[in-house]
Amino acid sequence: MRLFQKHFCAIAISLWAASPGNAQLLVEPTLHIKAEAGGGRVALTLDACSGRTDTRILSALVENKIPATIFVTGIWLKHNAAAVEIMRAHPELFELENHGGRHVPAVDTPQKIYGIRSAGSPEAVLAEVESGAAALAVTGEPAPKWFRGATAEYSPSTIAMIRKLGFKIAGFSINGDGGSLLGAKETARRIAAAKDGDVIIAHINQPTHAAGEGVVQGLLALKNKGLTFVRLDDADGIGDEGTTD
Ligand SMILES: [Zn+2]
Repeated sequence: MRLFQKHFCAIAISLWAASPGNAQLLVEPTLHIKAEAGGGRVALTLDACSGRTDTRILSALVENKIPATIFVTGIWLKHNAAAVEIMRAHPELFELENHGGRHVPAVDTPQKIYGIRSAGSPEAVLAEVESGAAALAVTGEPAPKWFRGATAEYSPSTIAMIRKLGFKIAGFSINGDGGSLLGAKETARRIAAAKDGDVIIAHINQPTHAAGEGVVQGLLALKNKGLTFVRLDDADGIGDEGTTD
């Protein structure tokens, strides 16, 4: 859903600003990891929103020993036990983090973002964040430290709230697959262009989309260039909009 994200975002913001009574603009925070001397490190983050598992990506990560941070929802966890088992069997590769309980955007006013209805109130945002963490706890995974809301857009007030709950908020610096709607070639091009310190976002829950093939190609290109991959827990993440400090 992020294909024309910047364009839609600009339209959304201008409509919002023009509509009376809506004081808050949504923000889409960025995240980088701190550069290290002599480093060429990138963080791969993959969202598992709902649906199934793209085994093309999962197998490639295991075969090529590419570490990744996977943002999972409660809904996805429920229907993908086999994939969760593979991830848990490789704790050196996979870090599972909180993508919410029901995949509703962490926006505390009622509205639609890329066609998805927002949580709509502070209480509903709280429920989304906490139910996501609770669903992860059932798997036996360590307690999540990072949260990424559905659509990766937030109201500034919800960012403050989620930080108070103890989570850092995971933005990104490279939109790898345009919400898994891009073609394989463009996805591969975007991911292969990652530089030291970049945080890539893509999806691991759309096995029928061409983008997944591009994710694999892009990652292998980065690996061949000698870049290394780190999980968010293994690097210093620096986000804007008060998401990590
Ligand atoms: Zn998602």
